[in-house]
Amino acid sequence: MILAIQPEETVRSFVARTLFIKGKHSSEEVFRKFPKNCILSTDILSIAGTQGWIGCYGFNKILHKHTDYPLKEIFKNIQDISYSRDEYIGRPNLYSSDSTQAGFCPVCVAEDVERLGFSFWRRAHCCELKVCAEHNVELVKRCPYCDKPFRHGGHDLNVMWATCEGQQFKDSSVMLNADQFELKKAQFFAEILSATYHLSEEAVLAVLNEKVHQNDKLKLKIWNSRYNQPLGYTIKRRLEIVQEARSRNRLPHGETTDFIIQAILGVYERFADFVIDVKSYGDEVRPVETLWSTYIAGHQESTHFVEENYDQGLGVWCCPFPARDFLRMWDWRPVYYPCCSFERPKRKGPQPRPELVKKAPPGVYRRK
Ligand SMILES: [Zn+2]
Ligand SMILES: [Zn+2]
Repeated sequence: MILAIQPEETVRSFVARTLFIKGKHSSEEVFRKFPKNCILSTDILSIAGTQGWIGCYGFNKILHKHTDYPLKEIFKNIQDISYSRDEYIGRPNLYSSDSTQAGFCPVCVAEDVERLGFSFWRRAHCCELKVCAEHNVELVKRCPYCDKPFRHGGHDLNVMWATCEGQQFKDSSVMLNADQFELKKAQFFAEILSATYHLSEEAVLAVLNEKVHQNDKLKLKIWNSRYNQPLGYTIKRRLEIVQEARSRNRLPHGETTDFIIQAILGVYERFADFVIDVKSYGDEVRPVETLWSTYIAGHQESTHFVEENYDQGLGVWCCPFPARDFLRMWDWRPVYYPCCSFERPKRKGPQPRPELVKKAPPGVYRRK
């Protein structure tokens, strides 16, 4: 029997919990082979499969519900109809590794043990947050009994289900949080992680651009010391890029969303107020689930998408936003395929020959 991943449980927690409970030899191969570091899309996909979540839809469902992926994908370009671009077909991305520090809320853990008989590692408690949004207590990022961190070189995740120095996490002491900003940040993260819709990136940037430029302190704040860029400038510049790209029907390159989240936290007291302002911009608000079956199959001038249809077991290609300009980089002469172009023009030189495509898109599962 395969265990069920718990709501908010990280993929790494689920794998570690399965191996801990069933034992390494009795666990299915996907769990035994799951890497400790460098978790790639194929690893995520295989774990989604254990829950019956199949294909592109299943891949995106597990990303949305069990990783911190929504933090970067909720603010989505309105011309991108895929949830995770071309990651389903293998664009490399590192989803998590054992060098990421995990953490827990002692109240959540005690409640889980009371309710389920066990606890698990939650995604919001294994990122940069310091506070539990639900209980307003400080997250524990080092073992309360031996001070080891919960990452490579310290405790592994199994300590959640075992003991340290004979003691369990459900009995660890609780520290109330007094930092209102950290609580607000945790609440905003919780809203983003559990979002059921995408907000248009352009609408988000336009709203924040206006608000941030009314506040000099926020406008000039350096949001990331590595880039040494003021927040106001970063938002304005990205807004220009996104608007320009939309006018030409060309998807802009991906960008971190750290500065967007920092700006929202700087401007708003309630996440709901931010959402109201973004909706008033007029761009469509799309349910996340409607993008889960679709991936980017290729970029030339235009972005090409494939939507997987599980009733028919086939992928439907589309190009909803053909580029308005030519790069003149491509050879537009027609290609004749000997397998399907029966009438071939006679021409000199090399004749077309069947050729295996380098990397075909994945097959599509058919619902029975
Ligand atoms: Zn909690
Ligand atoms: Zn310990």
